[in-house]
Amino acid sequence: AGSTGKPDINREKSAELYAKAKTFFPGGVNSPVRAFKSVYGTPLFIKRGDGCHLWDADDNQFVDFCCSWGPLILGHNNAKVREKVIEVMQNGMSFGAPTALENELAELIIKNNKFIEKIRFVSSGTEAVMSAIRLARGYTKRDKILKFEGCYHGHTDSLLVKAGSGLVTFGETSSAGVPKSFADETIVVALNDREAVQKAFEEFKDQIAAIIIEPVPANNGLILQEKEYLQYLREICTQNGTLLIFDEVISGFRIGFEGAAGYYQIKPDILTYGKIIGGGLPVGAYGASAEIMSNVSPDGGVYQAGTLSGNPVAMAAGIAQLSELLRMGFYRDLNNKTEEFTEAIQRFATARNYKFKVFTIGSIFWFAFTDKEAIRNADDIDASSMEKFKKLHRELLNRGVYLGPSGYEVGFISSAHTKIDLEKAKRAIFDSLEVVFR
Ligand code: PLP
Repeated sequence: AGSTGKPDINREKSAELYAKAKTFFPGGVNSPVRAFKSVYGTPLFIKRGDGCHLWDADDNQFVDFCCSWGPLILGHNNAKVREKVIEVMQNGMSFGAPTALENELAELIIKNNKFIEKIRFVSSGTEAVMSAIRLARGYTKRDKILKFEGCYHGHTDSLLVKAGSGLVTFGETSSAGVPKSFADETIVVALNDREAVQKAFEEFKDQIAAIIIEPVPANNGLILQEKEYLQYLREICTQNGTLLIFDEVISGFRIGFEGAAGYYQIKPDILTYGKIIGGGLPVGAYGASAEIMSNVSPDGGVYQAGTLSGNPVAMAAGIAQLSELLRMGFYRDLNNKTEEFTEAIQRFATARNYKFKVFTIGSIFWFAFTDKEAIRNADDIDASSMEKFKKLHRELLNRGVYLGPSGYEVGFISSAHTKIDLEKAKRAIFDSLEVVFR
């Protein structure tokens, strides 16, 4: 039983499956955060998802705010996406040759996104970012990349790099197996620090191919940046012949159809997408002006390819999902619903003087155990506050609410979360916060 609050739900079958999984996979999982290392217990094995709900192997039901880490903006098992996928699957799964479906998804995106003229589909966010970096290097004929502490861009070697000590540093690898020479090409600075960026351009004049940023940093908490700062990055890139890459794997099609670029009305040079673009199937993409994209093979010298790129079944899911997002009022309704939900939680916490803030943008939210009004860089986050998240996570599972298993992860709301579901979740969150702050 839980040491606080409600007794733990039955997790027997999940525990059994996890024990078996550990004999097959490192840590029992195929992606590390799933292993529940930062929260109590072992991973829940999921059997089914429908709408905003998940069912685990022990038949516990949850309102899901992880939404597969972002892709499921229409919720689980959306009928339109499912039907389109099944229809396309009747004709085969993969051809390694062009299909009309790729045109259809590309047209849907490009017609409704003024920031890109050409696009290339790949199979994950990591692949999109890796390719965008290569394109930036090929285009500028420069090697160095500037990234920010607190942003995640997938597991490509040159970005598994964290800040060393000092204002402007070469990164230190944040994973074994990344050659130091790769990290030496990556400069890491703090978010929201103009001086550090300025200094990097002085020290590495004419060497920086690209600045890459999550315009809505959402992988290390939600570290919202001010528009002026993003605008500053745009300007300093232009002045120095450096490309600005917006990694919109999370924010793309989430903050609005045009993502963060549209939200802030800032035009980056290259954009990367993932998650939502594939409707729950593996799709990533990168896009830019026709001129920049003309450097990608076979038009240009920057090589990039993929056996399953533009896979018809994955394209079908993307087409069905993105078509729904283009319906009138889709984002307005989703964002309003999120605002009501997060405001009510904040009011509850504030009235009780809890050291707790809900940060939010669009349909993304993050629970922070802090009294800071704003969190603008990774150092603003108090690591010890994660103990409180750990307790919250357990209390919420026991009350039928599923959050991603780490306090550094954001939550997502889908169009399938009804007012009734959100009301139920809110009650569970109130009760859980009371236990955490007891
Ligand atoms: N970029 C960002 C901003 C992400 O959030 C992620 C994944 O969470 C990635 C890149 C990597 O995407 P994937 O996990 O599909 O490889």
